[in-house]
Amino acid sequence: MTFSLHGIGVSRGYAIGRTYLLQRNQMEIAEYAIPDAIIEDEIRRFLNSLDIARKQLQEIRQQIPPTTPGDLTAFIDTHLLMLQDVTFTEAPVQLIRTRKCNAEWALKIQRDLLVQVFEQMDDPYLRTRKDDVDHVVRRVQRILVTEDPASAGNPDYAEPSASRLEGRVIVADDLTPADTILMQHQGVQAFVTEYGGPLSHTAILARSLGIPAVVGARNARAWLGHDEPVIVDGRQGAILVGLDERILRYYRHKQQQERREQRELSKLKGKPAITRDGMTIGLYANIEQPEDATAVRDVAADGVGLYRTEFLFMNRTEAPDEEEHLASYLHVIKVLDGSPVTIRTADLGADKQVDGGRGGPVSTNPALGLRAIRMCLKDLAMFRPQLRAILRASAFGPVRMMIPMLSTIQEVFQVLRLVAETRQELRDRGLAFDEKLPIGGMIEVPAAAVCAPQFAHYLDFLSIGTNDLIQYTLAIDRVDDEINYLYDPLHPAVLMLIHNTIRAGHKAGIPVSLCGEMAGDPRYTRLLLGLGLTEFSMHPTGLLEIKRAVQNSHVGELSEAVRHLLRTTDAEKYAEALKSIAQN
Ligand code: PEP
Ligand code: MG
Repeated sequence: MTFSLHGIGVSRGYAIGRTYLLQRNQMEIAEYAIPDAIIEDEIRRFLNSLDIARKQLQEIRQQIPPTTPGDLTAFIDTHLLMLQDVTFTEAPVQLIRTRKCNAEWALKIQRDLLVQVFEQMDDPYLRTRKDDVDHVVRRVQRILVTEDPASAGNPDYAEPSASRLEGRVIVADDLTPADTILMQHQGVQAFVTEYGGPLSHTAILARSLGIPAVVGARNARAWLGHDEPVIVDGRQGAILVGLDERILRYYRHKQQQERREQRELSKLKGKPAITRDGMTIGLYANIEQPEDATAVRDVAADGVGLYRTEFLFMNRTEAPDEEEHLASYLHVIKVLDGSPVTIRTADLGADKQVDGGRGGPVSTNPALGLRAIRMCLKDLAMFRPQLRAILRASAFGPVRMMIPMLSTIQEVFQVLRLVAETRQELRDRGLAFDEKLPIGGMIEVPAAAVCAPQFAHYLDFLSIGTNDLIQYTLAIDRVDDEINYLYDPLHPAVLMLIHNTIRAGHKAGIPVSLCGEMAGDPRYTRLLLGLGLTEFSMHPTGLLEIKRAVQNSHVGELSEAVRHLLRTTDAEKYAEALKSIAQN
């Protein structure tokens, strides 16, 4: 009998294959006292384990074919950087000295401190990055607890040989970026993990690599047998077990369809995104790191609609300085070669992050606390270097500055004042910048969406951050698994706020884009076009599919259908109207 397990489909596509269940190697980390006389030996043992861990990662890095996109190897580089950071090299040494404890235990204490800091961040992407800390710590601890450290190998799993993984569906509790990349090159077909959400490593990597993946499939390893034939439906987030010929036929057909579709989509690269009634739509990309710019160029996007700069602040104790900001921005500007780059100022969460977690009260509700522009305006020593760098970068190509999480117009005034001061500072230093650098704001707080005309009056462009707009409008924590089912992009309140923002921008004669996940989901393209959206910004891998949806749409007809939708108060008719917009 066929049955299905469900998780979150994070990377589209279908895989048919046999499972390979990965069981994590258990590791007991105990505390024991180290006598004074051998403290220095213990420190040497610890430093040696860091060396071995670095060598292991460098070896993994070398095994990755040069054709792999830069953003994938960057995950391994992040771990290498962490192994050189004082939080890993010095803090545990201090702990060994002061607590006179073994290296494994010192590392555990340091891990707990770091994870606490990450957990307090309200940016879900950064919060997910606590996984990096765990992956690095486990790698080093495994080396420490292994008698022959140099042969510690893969830190998490009994290492399966490459030939045994070929064609398999990997089922694990969670995967490190190194595991994910290596396994992909060993020919695995799909990933299923018990933990993680749409922003987890496995999700991001699987999307970039184009491999079907389902994350958050709780207890998958209890339900699935080893070497069991399964189908992974990355669209629906389902794993089908107990297959019969009818189901296999159906999914083989879907696979063929998907492959055909991919071939067709690749033909759209470089073609304009023009609707059936002749409207040109801007398709932009979201990036997280400078290396991602290559993927933007590869799909010939119109530019970068959202550059999340938070990565620059990660895994370090000091905020980046002006030159570091500038170097990252210049890299993207160079790769984009004349297409616009929208740099978002730091959307950091809890205020502890910049100083490596020392000091500052902990907010009980960080999503509603000192976040994004609120934090930047409070910590000008951290914010000013970024403002200077964005302005300076504008001398090298078309740059736009974007402010996240605006909730009151006073914040806009404060930013504009700071930018004016920064301009003067740069003039005094004789440094070039674009005098007309556009300054825009993200509309992701309902208050800002309601008052969009006011924001549109003072800003040069608006960008709707639906990921946050939905969570704040519906009071749904976007990363809380328990209430995920209530996270509804189609809620009338959300659509009304999006509509209001787009209208406000049009009335003020400024561009409005949408850069939340909705922009990259073809199920919503027609609806957004009908709401009047003319600029979409999304993960580069989804761009061509959105282009096709745009080309098949007629904005005039959709606008009429959406006008009708927004006037509909009957819940059933509302659902029907939504369906007809999505299908026609
Ligand atoms: C959003 O909130 O929609 C958005 C694009 O920003 P982030 O996901 O980085 O919060
Ligand atoms: Mg946001």
